[in-house]
Amino acid sequence: MPNTRPQQITILGATGSIGVSTLDVIARHPERFSVFALTAFRQADKLLEQCLLHRPRFAVLGDEIAALRLRDGLAAAGLSTEVLVGSKALADVAAAPEVDAVMAAIVGAAGLEPTLAAARAGKKVLLANKEALVLSGQLFMDAVATSGACLLPIDSEHNAVFQSLPADYRRNPAASGVRRVLLTASGGPFRATPVEQLEAVTPDQACAHPNWVMGRKISVDSATMMNKGLEVIEAHWLFGVPAEQIEVVVHPQSVIHSMVDYVDGSVIAQLGNPDMRTPIAHALAWPERIDSGVRALDLIEIARLTFERPDFDRFPCLALAFQALRQGGVAPAALNAANEEAVDCFLSGRLGYRRIGDVIAATLERIGAMAVDSLEAVLAADARARSIAQDEIRKRSQN
Ligand code: NAD
Ligand code: MG
Repeated sequence: MPNTRPQQITILGATGSIGVSTLDVIARHPERFSVFALTAFRQADKLLEQCLLHRPRFAVLGDEIAALRLRDGLAAAGLSTEVLVGSKALADVAAAPEVDAVMAAIVGAAGLEPTLAAARAGKKVLLANKEALVLSGQLFMDAVATSGACLLPIDSEHNAVFQSLPADYRRNPAASGVRRVLLTASGGPFRATPVEQLEAVTPDQACAHPNWVMGRKISVDSATMMNKGLEVIEAHWLFGVPAEQIEVVVHPQSVIHSMVDYVDGSVIAQLGNPDMRTPIAHALAWPERIDSGVRALDLIEIARLTFERPDFDRFPCLALAFQALRQGGVAPAALNAANEEAVDCFLSGRLGYRRIGDVIAATLERIGAMAVDSLEAVLAADARARSIAQDEIRKRSQN
Protein backbone atom coordinates (compact mmCIF):
# COMPACT_ATOMS: atom_id res chain seq x y z
CA MET A 1 0.00 0.00 0.00
CA PRO A 2 1.49 3.39 -1.00
CA ASN A 3 2.12 5.88 1.81
CA THR A 4 1.58 8.95 -0.41
CA ARG A 5 -1.69 10.67 -1.41
CA PRO A 6 -3.75 9.00 -4.16
CA GLN A 7 -2.63 9.81 -7.72
CA GLN A 8 -5.00 12.22 -9.47
CA ILE A 9 -6.06 10.77 -12.82
CA THR A 10 -7.66 12.31 -15.90
CA ILE A 11 -9.30 9.85 -18.29
CA LEU A 12 -9.70 11.18 -21.84
CA GLY A 13 -12.37 9.01 -23.49
CA ALA A 14 -13.77 7.63 -20.20
CA THR A 15 -16.93 6.17 -21.75
CA GLY A 16 -15.10 4.02 -24.32
CA SER A 17 -13.87 0.47 -24.00
CA ILE A 18 -10.45 1.50 -22.58
CA GLY A 19 -11.99 4.21 -20.37
CA VAL A 20 -14.41 1.73 -18.78
CA SER A 21 -11.63 -0.82 -18.16
CA THR A 22 -9.49 1.93 -16.61
CA LEU A 23 -12.25 2.92 -14.19
CA ASP A 24 -12.71 -0.76 -13.31
CA VAL A 25 -9.03 -1.01 -12.27
CA ILE A 26 -9.08 2.36 -10.46
CA ALA A 27 -12.17 1.36 -8.46
CA ARG A 28 -10.24 -1.63 -7.08
CA HIS A 29 -7.60 0.70 -5.56
CA PRO A 30 -9.24 3.78 -4.01
CA GLU A 31 -6.20 4.27 -1.74
CA ARG A 32 -3.94 4.69 -4.81
CA PHE A 33 -6.04 6.51 -7.39
CA SER A 34 -8.55 9.31 -7.40
CA VAL A 35 -10.36 10.62 -10.50
CA PHE A 36 -9.69 14.27 -11.36
CA ALA A 37 -11.53 14.49 -14.70
CA LEU A 38 -13.57 12.26 -17.01
CA THR A 39 -14.28 13.11 -20.65
CA ALA A 40 -16.57 11.82 -23.40
CA PHE A 41 -17.76 13.01 -26.78
CA ARG A 42 -21.57 12.91 -26.53
CA GLN A 43 -22.50 10.09 -24.13
CA ALA A 44 -23.88 12.31 -21.35
CA ASP A 45 -25.85 9.52 -19.66
CA LYS A 46 -22.92 7.14 -19.45
CA LEU A 47 -20.64 9.94 -18.25
CA LEU A 48 -23.22 10.86 -15.57
CA GLU A 49 -23.23 7.28 -14.30
CA GLN A 50 -19.42 7.36 -14.11
CA CYS A 51 -19.47 10.74 -12.32
CA LEU A 52 -21.89 9.42 -9.70
CA LEU A 53 -19.55 6.54 -8.99
CA HIS A 54 -16.14 8.28 -9.21
CA ARG A 55 -16.95 11.89 -8.24
CA PRO A 56 -14.44 13.75 -10.45
CA ARG A 57 -13.70 17.48 -10.09
CA PHE A 58 -14.38 17.99 -13.82
CA ALA A 59 -16.32 16.32 -16.62
CA VAL A 60 -15.82 17.36 -20.25
CA LEU A 61 -18.17 16.79 -23.19
CA GLY A 62 -17.96 17.60 -26.90
CA ASP A 63 -21.06 19.81 -27.21
CA GLU A 64 -23.41 22.06 -25.23
CA ILE A 65 -26.50 19.86 -25.64
CA ALA A 66 -24.78 16.88 -24.03
CA ALA A 67 -23.29 19.18 -21.38
CA LEU A 68 -26.74 20.55 -20.40
CA ARG A 69 -28.02 17.02 -19.95
CA LEU A 70 -25.05 16.11 -17.76
CA ARG A 71 -25.38 19.32 -15.67
CA ASP A 72 -29.06 18.53 -15.02
CA GLY A 73 -28.24 14.99 -13.92
CA LEU A 74 -25.41 16.13 -11.65
CA ALA A 75 -27.56 18.84 -10.07
CA ALA A 76 -30.36 16.33 -9.41
CA ALA A 77 -27.85 14.09 -7.65
CA GLY A 78 -26.34 17.00 -5.68
CA LEU A 79 -22.86 16.49 -7.15
CA SER A 80 -20.43 19.41 -7.50
CA THR A 81 -18.55 18.08 -10.58
CA GLU A 82 -17.95 21.01 -12.94
CA VAL A 83 -18.97 20.40 -16.57
CA LEU A 84 -16.80 21.88 -19.33
CA VAL A 85 -17.20 21.75 -23.12
CA GLY A 86 -14.89 21.53 -26.12
CA SER A 87 -11.32 20.83 -27.14
CA LYS A 88 -9.64 23.53 -25.06
CA ALA A 89 -11.28 22.06 -21.95
CA LEU A 90 -9.91 18.62 -22.89
CA ALA A 91 -6.38 20.01 -23.04
CA ASP A 92 -6.93 21.90 -19.76
CA VAL A 93 -7.98 18.83 -17.76
CA ALA A 94 -5.07 16.89 -19.29
CA ALA A 95 -2.48 19.50 -18.30
CA ALA A 96 -3.93 20.81 -15.00
CA PRO A 97 -1.26 21.13 -12.27
CA GLU A 98 -3.19 18.83 -9.87
CA VAL A 99 -3.07 15.92 -12.36
CA ASP A 100 -0.47 13.14 -11.96
CA ALA A 101 -1.46 10.79 -14.79
CA VAL A 102 -3.53 11.00 -17.96
CA MET A 103 -5.13 8.00 -19.65
CA ALA A 104 -5.21 8.97 -23.34
CA ALA A 105 -8.12 6.84 -24.60
CA ILE A 106 -9.95 9.05 -27.09
CA VAL A 107 -10.20 7.25 -30.43
CA GLY A 108 -8.49 8.75 -33.48
CA ALA A 109 -6.82 12.05 -34.30
CA ALA A 110 -9.35 13.87 -32.06
CA GLY A 111 -7.16 12.75 -29.15
CA LEU A 112 -3.98 14.40 -30.40
CA GLU A 113 -4.26 17.85 -28.85
CA PRO A 114 -5.15 16.84 -25.27
CA THR A 115 -2.62 13.96 -25.33
CA LEU A 116 0.10 16.31 -26.55
CA ALA A 117 -0.96 18.82 -23.87
CA ALA A 118 -0.44 16.12 -21.22
CA ALA A 119 2.97 15.27 -22.67
CA ARG A 120 4.02 18.93 -22.79
CA ALA A 121 2.92 19.37 -19.17
CA GLY A 122 5.25 16.51 -18.13
CA LYS A 123 2.50 14.16 -16.96
CA LYS A 124 2.61 10.41 -16.68
CA VAL A 125 0.95 9.69 -20.05
CA LEU A 126 -0.75 6.30 -20.39
CA LEU A 127 -1.06 6.04 -24.16
CA ALA A 128 -3.91 4.00 -25.65
CA ASN A 129 -4.63 6.52 -28.42
CA LYS A 130 -2.11 5.16 -30.95
CA GLU A 131 -3.48 7.39 -33.74
CA ALA A 132 -2.17 10.47 -31.86
CA LEU A 133 1.38 9.10 -31.93
CA VAL A 134 1.17 7.89 -35.55
CA LEU A 135 -0.03 11.33 -36.55
CA SER A 136 2.54 13.40 -34.67
CA GLY A 137 5.52 10.99 -34.34
CA GLN A 138 8.69 13.00 -33.78
CA LEU A 139 6.79 16.04 -32.49
CA PHE A 140 5.17 13.96 -29.75
CA MET A 141 8.38 12.18 -28.74
CA ASP A 142 10.23 15.52 -28.64
CA ALA A 143 7.54 16.93 -26.34
CA VAL A 144 7.97 13.94 -24.01
CA ALA A 145 11.77 14.35 -23.98
CA THR A 146 11.63 18.11 -23.39
CA SER A 147 9.11 18.02 -20.54
CA GLY A 148 10.39 14.81 -18.91
CA ALA A 149 6.93 13.22 -19.19
CA CYS A 150 6.74 9.51 -18.40
CA LEU A 151 5.24 7.76 -21.43
CA LEU A 152 3.80 4.30 -20.77
CA PRO A 153 2.14 2.19 -23.49
CA ILE A 154 -1.36 0.80 -22.93
CA ASP A 155 -1.68 -0.93 -26.31
CA SER A 156 -1.24 -4.56 -25.24
CA GLU A 157 1.55 -5.25 -27.77
CA HIS A 158 3.59 -2.20 -26.79
CA ASN A 159 2.99 -2.79 -23.12
CA ALA A 160 4.33 -6.33 -23.71
CA VAL A 161 7.40 -5.00 -25.55
CA PHE A 162 7.97 -2.45 -22.78
CA GLN A 163 7.87 -5.28 -20.23
CA SER A 164 10.23 -7.39 -22.37
CA LEU A 165 12.88 -4.69 -22.86
CA PRO A 166 15.60 -3.96 -20.28
CA ALA A 167 14.72 -1.07 -17.94
CA ASP A 168 17.57 1.12 -19.22
CA TYR A 169 16.87 0.40 -22.90
CA ARG A 170 16.26 4.04 -23.80
CA ARG A 171 19.55 5.20 -22.25
CA ASN A 172 21.68 2.61 -24.01
CA PRO A 173 19.87 0.92 -26.92
CA ALA A 174 23.07 -0.33 -28.58
CA ALA A 175 24.17 -2.36 -25.53
CA SER A 176 20.78 -3.99 -25.09
CA GLY A 177 21.27 -6.32 -28.08
CA VAL A 178 17.75 -6.12 -29.46
CA ARG A 179 17.55 -7.93 -32.81
CA ARG A 180 13.84 -7.63 -33.55
CA VAL A 181 10.59 -6.54 -32.00
CA LEU A 182 7.93 -9.16 -32.75
CA LEU A 183 4.42 -7.76 -32.65
CA THR A 184 1.75 -10.43 -32.40
CA ALA A 185 -1.57 -10.07 -34.21
CA SER A 186 -4.72 -12.17 -33.84
CA GLY A 187 -5.48 -11.89 -37.57
CA GLY A 188 -8.99 -10.63 -36.69
CA PRO A 189 -12.32 -12.09 -37.79
CA PHE A 190 -11.30 -12.60 -41.47
CA ARG A 191 -8.02 -14.44 -40.98
CA ALA A 192 -9.37 -17.54 -42.72
CA THR A 193 -12.29 -16.11 -44.77
CA PRO A 194 -11.87 -16.79 -48.51
CA VAL A 195 -10.56 -13.52 -50.02
CA GLU A 196 -13.38 -13.35 -52.62
CA GLN A 197 -15.95 -13.27 -49.78
CA LEU A 198 -14.33 -10.17 -48.25
CA GLU A 199 -15.98 -7.94 -50.89
CA ALA A 200 -19.35 -8.38 -49.19
CA VAL A 201 -18.51 -8.22 -45.46
CA THR A 202 -20.68 -5.96 -43.28
CA PRO A 203 -19.67 -3.60 -40.44
CA ASP A 204 -21.12 -5.98 -37.84
CA GLN A 205 -19.08 -8.89 -39.21
CA ALA A 206 -15.95 -6.73 -39.20
CA CYS A 207 -16.59 -5.64 -35.60
CA ALA A 208 -17.02 -9.19 -34.27
CA HIS A 209 -13.47 -9.71 -33.03
CA PRO A 210 -12.66 -13.27 -31.94
CA ASN A 211 -10.66 -12.37 -28.78
CA TRP A 212 -11.05 -8.70 -27.79
CA VAL A 213 -14.07 -6.49 -27.08
CA MET A 214 -13.23 -3.00 -28.39
CA GLY A 215 -14.67 0.19 -29.90
CA ARG A 216 -15.96 -0.08 -33.49
CA LYS A 217 -13.16 1.86 -35.18
CA ILE A 218 -10.34 -0.24 -33.73
CA SER A 219 -12.38 -3.39 -34.39
CA VAL A 220 -12.50 -2.60 -38.12
CA ASP A 221 -8.77 -1.76 -37.97
CA SER A 222 -8.19 -5.21 -36.48
CA ALA A 223 -10.17 -6.83 -39.31
CA THR A 224 -8.11 -5.03 -42.00
CA MET A 225 -4.92 -5.36 -39.90
CA MET A 226 -4.46 -1.60 -40.19
CA ASN A 227 -4.47 -1.80 -36.40
CA LYS A 228 -1.24 -3.80 -36.59
CA GLY A 229 0.09 -1.39 -39.19
CA LEU A 230 -0.56 1.58 -36.89
CA GLU A 231 1.08 -0.44 -34.11
CA VAL A 232 4.22 -0.97 -36.21
CA ILE A 233 4.52 2.82 -36.53
CA GLU A 234 3.66 3.23 -32.84
CA ALA A 235 6.45 0.78 -31.92
CA HIS A 236 8.91 2.67 -34.08
CA TRP A 237 8.27 5.91 -32.18
CA LEU A 238 7.92 4.43 -28.70
CA PHE A 239 11.05 2.29 -28.80
CA GLY A 240 13.13 3.96 -31.51
CA VAL A 241 13.22 0.76 -33.62
CA PRO A 242 13.53 1.03 -37.44
CA ALA A 243 10.91 -0.60 -39.71
CA GLU A 244 13.37 -3.36 -40.70
CA GLN A 245 13.58 -4.55 -37.09
CA ILE A 246 9.83 -4.78 -36.52
CA GLU A 247 8.05 -7.99 -37.54
CA VAL A 248 4.43 -9.02 -37.35
CA VAL A 249 3.54 -12.58 -36.34
CA VAL A 250 -0.04 -13.81 -36.56
CA HIS A 251 -0.94 -15.58 -33.32
CA PRO A 252 -4.69 -16.34 -33.29
CA GLN A 253 -4.98 -17.14 -29.55
CA SER A 254 -3.87 -13.61 -28.43
CA VAL A 255 -2.07 -15.01 -25.39
CA ILE A 256 1.46 -13.83 -26.22
CA HIS A 257 0.99 -10.08 -26.45
CA SER A 258 4.37 -9.44 -28.14
CA MET A 259 8.05 -10.36 -27.91
CA VAL A 260 11.59 -9.02 -28.09
CA ASP A 261 14.22 -11.11 -29.89
CA TYR A 262 17.82 -10.55 -28.68
CA VAL A 263 21.16 -11.13 -30.48
CA ASP A 264 22.09 -13.97 -28.11
CA GLY A 265 19.03 -15.96 -29.25
CA SER A 266 16.84 -15.14 -26.25
CA VAL A 267 13.24 -14.23 -26.97
CA ILE A 268 11.37 -12.56 -24.13
CA ALA A 269 7.58 -12.51 -24.30
CA GLN A 270 4.75 -11.23 -22.14
CA LEU A 271 1.71 -13.52 -21.86
CA GLY A 272 -1.72 -13.10 -20.36
CA ASN A 273 -5.44 -13.44 -20.96
CA PRO A 274 -6.67 -10.98 -23.59
CA ASP A 275 -8.05 -8.36 -21.19
CA MET A 276 -6.92 -4.72 -21.41
CA ARG A 277 -7.08 -4.36 -17.63
CA THR A 278 -3.65 -6.07 -17.46
CA PRO A 279 -1.70 -3.41 -19.42
CA ILE A 280 -3.84 -0.67 -17.81
CA ALA A 281 -3.03 -1.86 -14.28
CA HIS A 282 0.61 -2.33 -15.24
CA ALA A 283 0.93 1.26 -16.46
CA LEU A 284 -1.17 2.79 -13.66
CA ALA A 285 0.96 1.22 -10.93
CA TRP A 286 4.33 1.10 -12.73
CA PRO A 287 6.95 0.33 -11.48
CA GLU A 288 4.85 -1.53 -8.91
CA ARG A 289 2.23 -4.20 -9.70
CA ILE A 290 -1.38 -4.28 -8.57
CA ASP A 291 -4.39 -6.57 -8.93
CA SER A 292 -6.24 -5.85 -12.18
CA GLY A 293 -9.22 -8.16 -11.77
CA VAL A 294 -7.94 -10.32 -14.66
CA ARG A 295 -8.02 -14.03 -13.95
CA ALA A 296 -4.76 -16.00 -13.89
CA LEU A 297 -3.61 -17.48 -17.18
CA ASP A 298 -4.36 -21.21 -17.45
CA LEU A 299 -1.85 -22.63 -19.92
CA ILE A 300 -3.23 -26.16 -19.65
CA GLU A 301 -6.69 -24.91 -20.63
CA ILE A 302 -5.18 -22.98 -23.58
CA ALA A 303 -3.06 -26.01 -24.54
CA ARG A 304 -1.84 -24.71 -27.92
CA LEU A 305 -0.19 -21.51 -29.12
CA THR A 306 0.16 -21.22 -32.90
CA PHE A 307 1.90 -18.77 -35.24
CA GLU A 308 1.55 -17.79 -38.90
CA ARG A 309 3.12 -15.37 -41.33
CA PRO A 310 0.83 -12.42 -42.17
CA ASP A 311 -0.73 -12.53 -45.65
CA PHE A 312 -0.05 -9.11 -47.18
CA ASP A 313 -2.48 -9.78 -50.10
CA ARG A 314 -5.34 -10.44 -47.75
CA PHE A 315 -4.30 -7.49 -45.56
CA PRO A 316 -3.07 -4.71 -47.91
CA CYS A 317 -3.44 -2.14 -45.10
CA LEU A 318 -0.58 -3.78 -43.21
CA ALA A 319 1.71 -3.40 -46.24
CA LEU A 320 0.60 0.23 -46.64
CA ALA A 321 1.56 1.01 -43.04
CA PHE A 322 5.07 -0.44 -43.52
CA GLN A 323 5.31 1.60 -46.73
CA ALA A 324 4.25 4.80 -44.92
CA LEU A 325 6.78 4.22 -42.14
CA ARG A 326 9.61 3.73 -44.66
CA GLN A 327 8.46 6.80 -46.61
CA GLY A 328 8.44 8.89 -43.42
CA GLY A 329 7.56 12.60 -43.39
CA VAL A 330 3.87 13.19 -43.84
CA ALA A 331 3.10 9.60 -44.96
CA PRO A 332 2.14 8.09 -41.54
CA ALA A 333 -0.15 11.06 -40.78
CA ALA A 334 -1.78 10.70 -44.22
CA LEU A 335 -2.16 6.94 -43.74
CA ASN A 336 -3.92 7.50 -40.43
CA ALA A 337 -6.21 10.26 -41.67
CA ALA A 338 -7.24 8.35 -44.80
CA ASN A 339 -7.89 5.26 -42.71
CA GLU A 340 -10.11 7.16 -40.26
CA GLU A 341 -12.16 8.61 -43.12
CA ALA A 342 -12.44 5.28 -44.96
CA VAL A 343 -13.38 3.31 -41.84
CA ASP A 344 -15.99 5.88 -40.90
CA CYS A 345 -17.56 5.56 -44.37
CA PHE A 346 -17.37 1.77 -44.21
CA LEU A 347 -19.15 1.79 -40.83
CA SER A 348 -21.91 4.03 -42.23
CA GLY A 349 -22.38 1.84 -45.32
CA ARG A 350 -20.94 4.27 -47.89
CA LEU A 351 -17.78 2.32 -48.73
CA GLY A 352 -17.14 -1.37 -49.33
CA TYR A 353 -14.74 -3.18 -47.00
CA ARG A 354 -12.14 -3.89 -49.68
CA ARG A 355 -12.12 -0.23 -50.79
CA ILE A 356 -10.63 0.90 -47.44
CA GLY A 357 -7.12 -0.08 -48.54
CA ASP A 358 -7.65 1.42 -52.03
CA VAL A 359 -8.59 4.81 -50.55
CA ILE A 360 -5.52 4.81 -48.29
CA ALA A 361 -3.17 3.79 -51.13
CA ALA A 362 -4.54 6.55 -53.38
CA THR A 363 -4.23 9.15 -50.59
CA LEU A 364 -0.59 8.18 -49.97
CA GLU A 365 0.11 8.60 -53.69
CA ARG A 366 -1.46 12.05 -53.84
CA ILE A 367 -0.37 13.62 -50.53
CA GLY A 368 3.01 14.95 -51.77
CA ALA A 369 5.49 16.54 -49.35
CA MET A 370 4.25 18.47 -46.30
CA ALA A 371 5.85 19.61 -43.07
CA VAL A 372 4.90 17.81 -39.85
CA ASP A 373 7.17 19.70 -37.44
CA SER A 374 4.60 21.61 -35.39
CA LEU A 375 1.10 20.91 -34.11
CA GLU A 376 -0.31 23.32 -36.71
CA ALA A 377 1.60 21.57 -39.52
CA VAL A 378 0.43 18.14 -38.34
CA LEU A 379 -3.20 19.32 -38.21
CA ALA A 380 -2.84 20.82 -41.71
CA ALA A 381 -1.43 17.54 -43.06
CA ASP A 382 -4.25 15.63 -41.37
CA ALA A 383 -6.87 17.95 -42.92
CA ARG A 384 -5.33 17.72 -46.41
CA ALA A 385 -5.15 13.92 -46.26
CA ARG A 386 -8.81 13.78 -45.16
CA SER A 387 -9.92 15.91 -48.07
CA ILE A 388 -7.99 13.75 -50.56
CA ALA A 389 -9.41 10.62 -48.94
CA GLN A 390 -12.97 11.99 -49.18
CA ASP A 391 -12.39 12.67 -52.86
CA GLU A 392 -11.18 9.08 -53.33
CA ILE A 393 -14.16 7.78 -51.34
CA ARG A 394 -16.60 9.68 -53.59
CA LYS A 395 -15.11 7.90 -56.63
CA ARG A 396 -15.80 4.53 -54.98
CA SER A 397 -18.94 5.36 -53.00
CA GLN A 398 -21.67 2.69 -52.74
CA ASN A 399 -24.54 5.17 -52.36
P1 NAD B 1 -14.20 3.66 -28.07
O1 NAD B 1 -14.81 4.03 -29.35
O2 NAD B 1 -14.81 2.55 -27.26
O3 NAD B 1 -14.13 4.95 -27.12
C1 NAD B 1 -13.65 6.18 -27.57
C2 NAD B 1 -13.79 7.28 -26.50
O4 NAD B 1 -13.38 8.52 -27.10
C3 NAD B 1 -15.21 7.50 -26.01
O5 NAD B 1 -15.19 7.88 -24.65
C4 NAD B 1 -15.71 8.66 -26.87
O6 NAD B 1 -16.72 9.41 -26.22
C5 NAD B 1 -14.44 9.47 -27.03
N1 NAD B 1 -14.42 10.24 -28.29
C6 NAD B 1 -14.69 9.78 -29.55
N2 NAD B 1 -14.58 10.76 -30.45
C7 NAD B 1 -14.23 11.88 -29.78
C8 NAD B 1 -14.01 13.24 -30.15
N3 NAD B 1 -14.10 13.65 -31.44
N4 NAD B 1 -13.67 14.13 -29.19
C9 NAD B 1 -13.58 13.74 -27.88
N5 NAD B 1 -13.79 12.47 -27.47
C10 NAD B 1 -14.13 11.55 -28.39
O7 NAD B 1 -12.66 3.34 -28.35
P2 NAD B 1 -11.67 2.34 -27.57
O8 NAD B 1 -11.80 0.97 -28.11
O9 NAD B 1 -11.78 2.54 -26.09
O10 NAD B 1 -10.26 2.89 -28.07
C11 NAD B 1 -9.71 4.09 -27.59
C12 NAD B 1 -8.27 4.23 -28.07
O11 NAD B 1 -7.50 3.18 -27.50
C13 NAD B 1 -8.12 4.09 -29.60
O12 NAD B 1 -7.11 4.94 -30.02
C14 NAD B 1 -7.69 2.64 -29.77
O13 NAD B 1 -6.90 2.46 -30.93
C15 NAD B 1 -6.88 2.42 -28.51
N6 NAD B 1 -6.82 1.02 -28.08
C16 NAD B 1 -7.97 0.36 -27.74
C17 NAD B 1 -7.91 -0.96 -27.34
C18 NAD B 1 -9.16 -1.71 -26.92
O14 NAD B 1 -9.05 -2.86 -26.49
N7 NAD B 1 -10.33 -1.13 -26.98
C19 NAD B 1 -6.68 -1.62 -27.32
C20 NAD B 1 -5.54 -0.92 -27.68
C21 NAD B 1 -5.62 0.40 -28.06
MG1 MG C 1 -3.02 -3.53 -29.76
